[in-house]
Amino acid sequence: MKEQTERMIQYAEAALKDAYAEQEIVEEKRTRQILDVFRKHQVSYRHFSPTTGYGYDDVGRDTLEKIYADVFHTEAALMRPHIASGTSALSLTLFGLTRPGDRILSVTGLPYDTLWGIIGIGKETPPGSLKEMGVGFDCVDLKKDGTIDLEAVEAAMTPRTTLVIAQRSRGYAWRPSLMPEAFEPLSDLLHRRYPGVLFMVDNCYGEFVREKEPTDFGADVCVGSLIKNPGGGIAPTGGYIAGSRESVERVAWRLTAPGLGREIGSYAGDYRPWYQGLFMAPHTVCQAVKTALLAARLFEDLGMKTSPSSAERRADIIQAIQMGTPERLVAFCQGIQSASPIDSMALPEPWDMPGYDDRVVMAAGTFVAGASIELSCDGPMREPYTAYMQGGLTYTHGRIALAEALNRMIIAGAL
Ligand SMILES: *Cc1c(COP(=O)(O)O)cnc(C)c1O
Repeated sequence: MKEQTERMIQYAEAALKDAYAEQEIVEEKRTRQILDVFRKHQVSYRHFSPTTGYGYDDVGRDTLEKIYADVFHTEAALMRPHIASGTSALSLTLFGLTRPGDRILSVTGLPYDTLWGIIGIGKETPPGSLKEMGVGFDCVDLKKDGTIDLEAVEAAMTPRTTLVIAQRSRGYAWRPSLMPEAFEPLSDLLHRRYPGVLFMVDNCYGEFVREKEPTDFGADVCVGSLIKNPGGGIAPTGGYIAGSRESVERVAWRLTAPGLGREIGSYAGDYRPWYQGLFMAPHTVCQAVKTALLAARLFEDLGMKTSPSSAERRADIIQAIQMGTPERLVAFCQGIQSASPIDSMALPEPWDMPGYDDRVVMAAGTFVAGASIELSCDGPMREPYTAYMQGGLTYTHGRIALAEALNRMIIAGAL
């Protein structure tokens, strides 16, 4: 069985040679870009130094934020260990950029599950949601071909709409992820017809997968998690918001206090993991994309539906695979978990995860708890039992883990 799996992998790798080479070109371009930004800011050991108290003139923090702004080609950025997660960064942004009476318009269908509580949609609306604060929400689906429906967007805009949001990654939906350039027609439309309306992209899982980012195509604000792509597998926590000076300022006021914003916030650890993580990110992301490509090809060869397929260009690091049966989904996640460096002995079972409406089965044997730039996999327990796999600090580990997961599925009689 092991030889059979190894043969399958070698066959898949041969077919993926060009796709791997293309991704390595992106890695080199983005690494060069980050290196140039580090040189511009003359990063040195003093930037790693911890601070205490209010954290005025924290050079490590301030320089990191300038680096983020340069990498995203924006006027400003907020990058803090104090931002608890991607959801936390998105929540700060949505609250920071809206006022009572405003409406938010989502143009990529319903947003990621964990945002429902912030906005106030779904089964339960927690106290303190945007809805409770008097901020409304409208939503437009993507067109059947996966592009943004500009006509429907125009029809859904109201005089109270002040913030348009889009999600680059598929999240837990079976739809294509959006390339950074896919936001350009919408940004153009908004800037031309609706001046003053801000356009935010949830960039989670998308950073460094392509040569550019949504802010290169007119997005006013990009938001993401540092235990995903831009943390490079090294940053232990945090989130970022990159955008225009005014919008970043407003978000920073939510984080600390109006009037204080980015001026305060010390960190008594050291900043090296964020610098090093960002420097590593293009490489780590490339390893993750190659692991995703391999998974796509392997399961296609077994007759399963994948999104994106192994032949498609990638816009994020997520690989969706329709497993078709609950047994396959669970065995796959268990296989990935048992091939993880951390918690290999844990046996994932479906559970009710806070913030998600369906039961979820999840494999995450990661150094940084819950980091999905590290090899991880989850799937909601609903038809057609789709596994969403992402990450991989090294391709070598991704390859070993996929082989072991396949073997486990065979032993479980699920294949
Ligand atoms: C992961 C993710 C989030 C939320 O990030 P957390 O760090 O899990 O809170 C939001 N949107 C998208 C598209 C994501 O992939």
